[in-house]
Amino acid sequence: MHLKSLTLKGFKSFASATTLRFEPGITCVVGPNGSGKSNVVDAIAWVLGEQGAKALRGGKMEDVIFAGTTGRAPLGRAEVTLTIDNADGALPIDYSEVSITRRMFRSGEGEYEINGDRCRLLDVQELLSDSGIGREMHVLVGQGKLDSYLHARPEDRRAFIEEAAGVLKHRKRKEKALRKLDAMEGNLTRLNDLTGELR
Ligand code: ATP
Repeated sequence: MHLKSLTLKGFKSFASATTLRFEPGITCVVGPNGSGKSNVVDAIAWVLGEQGAKALRGGKMEDVIFAGTTGRAPLGRAEVTLTIDNADGALPIDYSEVSITRRMFRSGEGEYEINGDRCRLLDVQELLSDSGIGREMHVLVGQGKLDSYLHARPEDRRAFIEEAAGVLKHRKRKEKALRKLDAMEGNLTRLNDLTGELR
């Protein structure tokens, strides 16, 4: 599995549709200060479902939409598509190539697609959760993040390792199941009370 390409349209400084193609191996993005190198990394985090504006170096999520320049009007939406080579079947989907798209409008509405089909963020997260590209984005190591890993508390470091090992998905599912069980037990108690009252 490797990232094949990234298309940005209206995302941060990328007003016009721009496609970056990645070959297997190392890819270097080189450019002057402020030319948009970090915006490319932000786009990868965003399309994979990043929800925190701060993690994307903005104040609010809307900041990912091209805000305009002296010669160009602001745009109404941002769109990023990440295409992943899945010839080795690392992602649990019957396609040798998987495209994930995220779109956001100024109204705040957002959409996700997997291979052109509308889906929920949860579907994107589930698809990626065993690949190591999980929701916590440990695959993206930003400036200063390495330091935070090295100084993390043992339990936080354990969470990083769990995510990388694909355990996190099952932990989340277990938590969800326990919450449902809890709610069900509450209902059962209520039912027992009502039955008692009817007797
Ligand atoms: P450095 O080498 O200094 O780290 P960089 O190449 O990583 O720089 P980025 O931080 O990716 O640069 O890009 C910063 C540029 O993106 C700034 O010029 C900023 O104005 C522009 N930018 C960020 N968000 C938007 C937006 N919503 N609309 C238009 N331009 C934006």
